[in-house]
Amino acid sequence: MGNSNGYVSVALHLDSMAHAAGYPSGYLDPTYRQVVDRFLALADEFGFRYSMYPIGRDLEDRHACARLREISAQGHELGNHTWNHYTDTGALPVAELREEIVRTHEKLVDEVGVQPRGFIAPAWSYSDRLLRLLAELGYRYDMSAFPSWLYYPFVAKNALNHLSHGEKFRRVLNRRDWLQPLTGPRDPYLKHGVVVIPVPTTAGPVATAVWHTTGFLLGWERHFALLRNAIAARPYFHYVVHPADLTCAEDFTGSETMYLERAGGSLEEKQRRLRESLSILKESGKQWVTLGEMADAARSELMRSRAA
Ligand SMILES: [Zn+2]
Repeated sequence: MGNSNGYVSVALHLDSMAHAAGYPSGYLDPTYRQVVDRFLALADEFGFRYSMYPIGRDLEDRHACARLREISAQGHELGNHTWNHYTDTGALPVAELREEIVRTHEKLVDEVGVQPRGFIAPAWSYSDRLLRLLAELGYRYDMSAFPSWLYYPFVAKNALNHLSHGEKFRRVLNRRDWLQPLTGPRDPYLKHGVVVIPVPTTAGPVATAVWHTTGFLLGWERHFALLRNAIAARPYFHYVVHPADLTCAEDFTGSETMYLERAGGSLEEKQRRLRESLSILKESGKQWVTLGEMADAARSELMRSRAA
């Protein structure tokens, strides 16, 4: 490993308010306006670059494309988070899965001017067919594996949230990775030539997945302790954040039907919690990189240990 202490990075899954609201016509999405500005201000404050994963359909909005071009020019990485953000992405038939990835990829190339090299499936919907396809399409890394017991309550919670939306409910439960949380490796590995970077987990036999949402689910004091544990346990640590982590009631007009319960709340309090989390990343003394850089470092290390 280039840095004996390891690496940290921040992955912003750009699950937009427009997506959550079902793309109402004429909607001015706060995600690509004030919300992304709040995230960028933290990058300036802490001195790191994000890896951001936009939803393909959002790139039909010229304003979103312009913002992403600007963000990419500042040195942040952009990756692929599928076109429709279906929670059963990993279980889709191959032709449909290909369309989800390729359509988004082409938009990023044509409208934003970047070649995405990394992928994250919505709701961590992991599968072997997904990895094979990513390899064929030239992707270098995937972050869709979720090797933690927390997978089951996470899927159950998602299902409950969508109980009254027939199609979304069906998609939440349509998965091909029911055993992967119990059997999957917890550190990066190579499969079909793709570096898989699993969601970070704590040390010990009962691995708890840690991302910013864990604080909303398990309470903040517990979260900060789990975060310290996971950063120490994982030489390659990435912290997953979402736009809803920095939205507040004022960002919504009230006409959107939102199912994201954490979308409201006090912005000041949310900013304090995210700052505290980023401080813990910084205090770790690990090297702050993008996910693309982390994947390259992990690949070199994996190739070296393979050759040995
Ligand atoms: Zn997402």
